[in-house]
Amino acid sequence: LPRIGVLAVQGDVREHLAALSALGAEAVTVRRPAELEQVDGLVIPGGESTVMDKLVRAFDLREPLVRRIREGLPVYGSCAGMIMLADRIADGRPDQQTLGGLDITVRRNAFGRQVDSFEQDLDYAWSDTASSGATGTVHAVFIRAPWVEQAGPDVQVLARVSEGAAAGRIVAVRQGNLMATSFHPEVGADRRIHAEFVSIVRAHRLQQSDARQSPERE
Ligand code: GLN
Repeated sequence: LPRIGVLAVQGDVREHLAALSALGAEAVTVRRPAELEQVDGLVIPGGESTVMDKLVRAFDLREPLVRRIREGLPVYGSCAGMIMLADRIADGRPDQQTLGGLDITVRRNAFGRQVDSFEQDLDYAWSDTASSGATGTVHAVFIRAPWVEQAGPDVQVLARVSEGAAAGRIVAVRQGNLMATSFHPEVGADRRIHAEFVSIVRAHRLQQSDARQSPERE
């Protein structure tokens, strides 16, 4: 079983644990560096990214998180989690740091204060390499969500807002083993987005055990 952690310093942790368990992963909370070292993948949930940033530093998790992300740990960030994975925040406050890893600029609370939350069906670029085999549109729930204002050349766009004033805005991305959505797939019963992530974790885990079994010769 892949062991997948949910960063549990703040935010909607329980829903992600339930989604991951339903998919046959061993889902565990991560609050300490030692717990982080034992996971094959990590979910950073929605919540409040400024608070999450402060707590991650207070729990001495910032440095190990940045290191594991750089080493290729599969990480899925939803909403505030997307902000944590972004290399840049548009009009960011000088005291807010992200972990980084995704070559994107996010805008926090991008849809405006009047639209606290909304729902929309989106076209989603389901991966064909992953074993999830998912198809069809996704019903996306946005809650004070960010959007991706700019994405670098290595970033794959998975979904955009389909209608309304923000139509065309990027709201789901992937770059290597990092995946992020502006919306909250953990709130409904649809597990396809989590399944995509579990596939990334499984593939990465296989790759690593292959590398261990057949070390490259000098
Ligand atoms: N607005 C929050 C932030 O900027 C994100 C909201 C959410 O995760 N639902 O961190």
